[in-house]
Amino acid sequence: MADLARLSINQATTQAQYGLAEAIAAYSNADVAGISIWRDKLAECGLDKAVRMLADRGLRVSGLCRGGMFPGADAAARQANIDDNLLAIDEAVALGAACVVLVCGGIPEGSKDLAGTREMIRDGLGAILPHARAAGVPLAIEPLHPMYAADRCSINTLGQALDLCDQLDGCHGADLGVAVDVYHLWWDPDLQAQIERAGERVLAFHVCDWLVPTTDLLLDRGMMGDGVINIRQIRDWVDATGYDGLIEVEIFSAQNWWKRPGDEVINTCRKRFLETV
Ligand code: ZN
Repeated sequence: MADLARLSINQATTQAQYGLAEAIAAYSNADVAGISIWRDKLAECGLDKAVRMLADRGLRVSGLCRGGMFPGADAAARQANIDDNLLAIDEAVALGAACVVLVCGGIPEGSKDLAGTREMIRDGLGAILPHARAAGVPLAIEPLHPMYAADRCSINTLGQALDLCDQLDGCHGADLGVAVDVYHLWWDPDLQAQIERAGERVLAFHVCDWLVPTTDLLLDRGMMGDGVINIRQIRDWVDATGYDGLIEVEIFSAQNWWKRPGDEVINTCRKRFLETV
């Protein structure tokens, strides 16, 4: 059963309503235990102010969004992406984030080389892993639904993400792991087996729902309970790995939840979390 002590809200869920400082205040006022922070909002707020507010409010950080985006058309572009990831790791340290969430990136413009794109992702991960290890910040590869394979992330199943972990992090210390997001993975017939395989590599668990019909590939995620995902079943599989960290509500919803008052969104997240997660 869900317990509000494990509820985190990804600030994208209220990105139209709140900046980071407002989100920290609103979530903690509603007894939400954690927040996942976006780097653009962090830059607007300022790192020092955010760190201070999180400490004052006792809010935990379930993840920093986002690192990744490794592919690039040339070596200079790929190096710039690596440098940006190193910075994200440093920010995650300051915030005490549970992990850096990696949306690994898609095919560079003009290319049709999917296999090569995946090699760039592997190489980029390999380049930042030593810094993450030294900093003590786990890296969570987030496999994205295959509809994003071209433009956002060419890692599209949990099995693929775990293969990368095994290649790069053989010691299995979970310096490198995965973010399990029901929106991206619910359809996979192999999901239960792959979550079991992930074990301690589960570093984050994201929930929302898949609406029928879905009217926008990016910005029409549903509130838990409004769609077709059996969230509690996936939750049971994740629980069985021993994962006991925060569970993050992450809803991009341009035409619905982003248009509602922030407190209504937060209260609905709390209610549905208890009912369906
Ligand atoms: Zn997610």
